[in-house]
Amino acid sequence: MDFLPISLRLTDSTVLLVGGGQVATRKARLLCQAGARLLVVAPAIQAELATLLEATGGRWEQGEYHSSCIEGAVLVVAATPSRAVNEQVSRDARARQLPVNVVDAPELCTVIFPSIVDRSPLTIAISSSGNSPVLVRALRRRLEAMLPAAYGRLALFAGRMRAVVRSAIASETPRRLFWEQAMDGAVAELVLAGREQQAEQLLQRQLADSSALHRGEVYLLGAGPGDPDLMTFKALRLLQSADVVLYDRLVAPAIVELARRDAERIYVGKSRADHSLPQQQINALLLALAQQGKRVVRLKGGDPFIFGRGGEEIELLARHHIPFQVVPGITAASAAACYAGIPLTHRDHAQSVRFVAGHLKNGSLEHDWTQFLSEKETLVFYMGLVGLPIICAELQRHGRPADTPIALVERASTAEQRVITGTLATMAAIVQRQQPQAPTLIIIGSVVSLHESLAWFGERVG
Ligand code: SAH
Repeated sequence: MDFLPISLRLTDSTVLLVGGGQVATRKARLLCQAGARLLVVAPAIQAELATLLEATGGRWEQGEYHSSCIEGAVLVVAATPSRAVNEQVSRDARARQLPVNVVDAPELCTVIFPSIVDRSPLTIAISSSGNSPVLVRALRRRLEAMLPAAYGRLALFAGRMRAVVRSAIASETPRRLFWEQAMDGAVAELVLAGREQQAEQLLQRQLADSSALHRGEVYLLGAGPGDPDLMTFKALRLLQSADVVLYDRLVAPAIVELARRDAERIYVGKSRADHSLPQQQINALLLALAQQGKRVVRLKGGDPFIFGRGGEEIELLARHHIPFQVVPGITAASAAACYAGIPLTHRDHAQSVRFVAGHLKNGSLEHDWTQFLSEKETLVFYMGLVGLPIICAELQRHGRPADTPIALVERASTAEQRVITGTLATMAAIVQRQQPQAPTLIIIGSVVSLHESLAWFGERVG
């Protein structure tokens, strides 16, 4: 190891910053975030740096650097365009055993600034010991994406609870095990969801009753329309923490693959014709698995609360006091619309949008069709492939013009996506010819006419 990463407390300590340009300003911003009092030595400084000094009680000494500037500093940073000045600062600091950083000159440094993922009070420092800033930035981007913004709150929460836990569990190993479970379970998730008070209550319950610690929990995750990139960070994180994953046909295999390798995977079916497990059995299975103390993920296509029966699945859990969370997902309508270049609303075309269930019950659709007649509203039918001829016929029968544009988006957001367009009059025959495969979504209204000019992904057929 060329450099040892350590975390430095700078509150109310003086840091000497030599230089007043853009690079110096960047460093100044960081140092002030850490509470340092700055002494800036430079002939001129940027306006932003001047403002920063004023706001943080720092000082600017106008002029060239000289050795006595260093007095009283606990850290020295050189960020001038002159190599000679930077070398001088480095020499002076080292002669006084002071840590020194020279921007972009690792050979003149005794300390280097790592790249930081800041979830204060939690901080992650990444450094390549000066070898590859680009690699460090790439790594940082990945960590930033992986770590929920609320991780800092979690660290603060743990800090607040430390004394309580210490007095409840005296010996060290059981205490560590307790914390490991708390930081990886329902308590942590409650904090991350911004529900600190409930997290504290749960933690107290777990301290009082160790069986509560081993109670399972259920996450209903919106998996989006198919493309794994369209899942939320939160859904991905919870998926990767699951012991058991329940999924159905609407969830793309690539998404199920993102679960931990050792997680149990249970297919619960559900395509139009093949209801592998009736809904009640799925509900009961979720409950039973959670009662065994497992961390259960139920993956739902799109959004769990849009035609997803998510409400029914959590009702039973709520009645049995199983902790659960529902994580939203990108619903098929959003995905199909964006990927097919059909804005669901548009100043000139539609001021509202309506999501409608399009599946047949006993061969027909029981809707009050008179509510669907506004030309200024986009209609989106989920589960409407089989019922499409009826939808088109009923809308016309109730007065929608025969030339109203309609699109059917097949397997939206996947590599197989196809967009079929027509009018209420022509669509049934076109779809009959094209034989699209489920899942498909139907969009009706004048916004569909924009598809021609806005689509970048879909291919027009029909
Ligand atoms: N909860 C889901 C909807 C479940 S109902 C969501 O929010 O998207 C199932 C219906 O969703 C399907 O019949 C189809 O109409 C639609 N659907 C889901 N994924 C789709 C996709 N990738 N492309 C087109 N339609 C999709």
